[in-house]
Amino acid sequence: MPNMAPKKNPMPSQAADVRNHNFQEVALGYTAEMAIDEAKRCLNCKNHPCVSGCPVRVAIPAFIREMAEGNFETAYQVIARSSSLPAVCGRVCPQETQCESKCVRGIKGEPVGIGRLERFAADWHNANSTQKPQKPASNGHRVAVIGSGPSGLTCAGDLAKMGYQVTVFEALHLAGGVLVYGIPEFRLPKSIVQKEINTLRDLGVQIETNVVIGKTITIDELQQEYGFEAVFIGSGAGLPKFMSIPGENLKGVYSANEFLTRINLMKAYQPGSDTPIQHGKRVAVVGGGNVAMDAARCAKRLGADVTIVYRRTEAELPARREEVEHAMEEGIVFKFLTNPLEILGNEQGWVSAVRCQEMELGEPDASGRRRPVPKEGSEFTLDLDCVIMALGTSPNPLIKSTTEGLETQKWGGIIADENTGLTSRPGVYAGGDAVTGAATVILAMGAGKNAAAAIDEYLKSK
Ligand code: FAD
Ligand code: SF4
Ligand code: SF4
Repeated sequence: MPNMAPKKNPMPSQAADVRNHNFQEVALGYTAEMAIDEAKRCLNCKNHPCVSGCPVRVAIPAFIREMAEGNFETAYQVIARSSSLPAVCGRVCPQETQCESKCVRGIKGEPVGIGRLERFAADWHNANSTQKPQKPASNGHRVAVIGSGPSGLTCAGDLAKMGYQVTVFEALHLAGGVLVYGIPEFRLPKSIVQKEINTLRDLGVQIETNVVIGKTITIDELQQEYGFEAVFIGSGAGLPKFMSIPGENLKGVYSANEFLTRINLMKAYQPGSDTPIQHGKRVAVVGGGNVAMDAARCAKRLGADVTIVYRRTEAELPARREEVEHAMEEGIVFKFLTNPLEILGNEQGWVSAVRCQEMELGEPDASGRRRPVPKEGSEFTLDLDCVIMALGTSPNPLIKSTTEGLETQKWGGIIADENTGLTSRPGVYAGGDAVTGAATVILAMGAGKNAAAAIDEYLKSK
């Protein structure tokens, strides 16, 4: 008999007033009993609508059936056939707009906690399985992958499983892309990402860090001098946007990217870190997306009083609802319908305040959201020590500017075929944020997977 409880088993979590002082994971994960109970909420629907909501088509009812029987390792193996990073996806996929949004249990209650079950199966496997993946026999073909984020790692893993000799070139000193430098430890512990990367190494993938393609080596050189027969570009969208308002050059103004990289990658929150972060007591984060929530929650954990400044209302916040709720519970203040006009500084050149303006919502703009318009005579000043700009990112133009014949969109995204990732350069494929602009982990993984299949076809036909 299925469990007809209308709500998901709640996720055990650290209390808000405890977790806002530490960087340990907020969600603690289900126990085996909770996982089995939640799995029994699945109706094992014949036409499994949930699968259509998953960009990599995880066989959701099949893995949940195994979970309900307590066969956690088998459940993991079912997921691993479609997703190479299940412990990551179970934590950070926006399930409420993907797999869970299609679950029939969501019609009269809450959907099955698919993400929570996926996380449990992956954590179970990581804790209990000692099996290392077998390195496949080499087929002698060499492929270069640029960037070690989810798109690059997925492309590299799939190609390695087919016998290709894959080398990943990563600009930073650690592999993982946004999974290590962007998403904070309290949402995605870095040991989990490291484990997934070790699995790729066991499959024979070589990872060369501190190599900036376009500076250290170009794509032409990879293809013509280093003998790589195909190249996948998964270089992400790491170039931050600013508001172009006066005062953005003051000390104490960060892009969210820099702020998060210093904290997550360089561990600036640990005493004695080589990369200190100067944040002061009063921090404002400008923006309303997931990146803004992550930056605000990090600053809170560093002891600051944090205000999120957003020019629309709570209803338009683009961040995941769960992240907004977590931020609110942790004591972050939201100033809606507020737009910064100028950042003011003290005599030493540090941020001292932000001059803001109140907004109201006007007619819908091209995105369909109501456009914020300034309210007359509503200017006010917020006293601050630090401003973090979380306004979005775009692809870095370095690769485009050093690769002959690589076509891009006006905003910098690489033009690539939707199904194969093939770019305007023969043998060069691309996917993930470098093509779509800032998106999600699972979409980047899907693009890496499609490109790996297309590269295999291309090299077989050569
Ligand atoms: P990236 O992860 O950006 O990886 C690109 C890699 O390429 C980087 O390591 C970079 O250093 C490297 N690189 C760049 N240029 C070069 C070069 N010239 N040479 C060599 N290497 C290069 N998505 C979700 O689904 N859920 C979330 O909760 C979520 N939270 C997020 C929080 C933050 C703070 C951020 C910034 C993003 C978040 N995202 C989230 C979005 C998600 O992380 C990205 O969509 C995803 O990581 C894109 O993967 P990618 O492989 O295309 O690129
Ligand atoms: Fe859902 Fe993401 Fe898992 Fe797909 S990979 S089933 S979208 S949690
Ligand atoms: Fe189970 Fe929901 Fe998928 Fe049906 S739609 S198989 S109930 S997860």
